[in-house]
Amino acid sequence: MKKYHSASGSNVRKKTTSTSSQDNKKQRLINHLNMIINTQACLVSTTFDLDRFMTMVTQQIQNLTPATGAVIELAQGEEMVYRATSGSIDKYLGLHLNKNDAISGLCIQSRQILQCDDCETDVRVNKEACQKAGARSLVVVPLFYEGNAVGVLKIISSKPHAFNEFDIQTLQLMAGLIGSALAHQILYDKSQQLLKEKTEAIEELKKAEIKLKHLAHHDNLTGLPNRNLFNERLKSALLKAKRNKQIIALMYLDIDHFKDINDTMGHGIGDKLLNAFALRLQKCIRSSDTVARLGGDEFVLLIENIAENKDVVTIAKKILKVINEPFNFNKKTINVTTSIGITYFNDGISTSDEFIKQADEALYVSKNSGRNTFYVFQNEILYEKT
Ligand code: GH3
Ligand code: MG
Repeated sequence: MKKYHSASGSNVRKKTTSTSSQDNKKQRLINHLNMIINTQACLVSTTFDLDRFMTMVTQQIQNLTPATGAVIELAQGEEMVYRATSGSIDKYLGLHLNKNDAISGLCIQSRQILQCDDCETDVRVNKEACQKAGARSLVVVPLFYEGNAVGVLKIISSKPHAFNEFDIQTLQLMAGLIGSALAHQILYDKSQQLLKEKTEAIEELKKAEIKLKHLAHHDNLTGLPNRNLFNERLKSALLKAKRNKQIIALMYLDIDHFKDINDTMGHGIGDKLLNAFALRLQKCIRSSDTVARLGGDEFVLLIENIAENKDVVTIAKKILKVINEPFNFNKKTINVTTSIGITYFNDGISTSDEFIKQADEALYVSKNSGRNTFYVFQNEILYEKT
């Protein structure tokens, strides 16, 4: 501007006016491009959100063109859905229209930009709907994803002949950005879905692994530790007892005449009894001790951290008493007894098998002594009166 400053004449003024109008146009174009570039930058934002992005585009397009309203419609089956709106179309957000009744449907079908300069006279548009939305002229451009027309970007104006070639170019640029946004979102959704499926599969595997591990270490019927888990616990308990010079004891139990119960009451009642028997045993010891079912009607108790040997005798007496309480199943009462063999860990024991064998030997003596009693293995077998 400065270089045209002069004292003389209208000529200069004319030149200045024309330059100023050119500068204005240039500035408008720069602003225009900046807005489009800024919109594009949002695409790579880490907090990208498709709906927010589309709403922003509809607002931007109103700033960049003489549009009084803008909408992004996405095809959903046989319908067009208003997914983002601005201006006079804002109140129609979420609207579902039949593809065949809308110019948007025609735009998708033809994959062409459609321009209508006067909705009052253009036969391609629904005159009534246009009047309702306050549209006298409009432009619709298709949105593409992977080569397919999946929606439209539409601008409307309350005036006829509102849009020029430049507006259409702007609209096309924005439509391209929406296409990228859709691709971005679909890729994101797919990767999220894959991640979800992968996480679920890993969770399932973990659950299956835990279940398998549990099955391998627990008895199916009572849920108690089985022989495998018991052996593991026994081995580590023996090591700990050796190291810390602690007293630990093993009790071997076998239900008396269990076969008779099975034979007279049925296998189902036999199973119920095994479960109830296991529960009663658990109540007789601390939760830090172990009750395991070795199989059939044989159970073992591993009692650790014993203050005095006689504490185990007390537990054995308690078990005999608790088991002697009648069991009731299906309104039938069953009287049950059990025999017990006990052994304490001492320096002479070098393996867990040896330890179990001693308790088993004590149990054998209990059985042969008339059952419903316990014997303690200590160098020689000692009888403890119940
Ligand atoms: P004893 O006094 O000498 O111990 O005689 P018993 O009749 O209890 O005989 P024993 O302990 O040798 O036999 C245990 C029986 O337990 C043998 C088998 O039929 C039964 N049994 C083994 N597993 C199961 C089971 O899971 N459910 C049921 N109901 N019975 C079982
Ligand atoms: Mg038995």
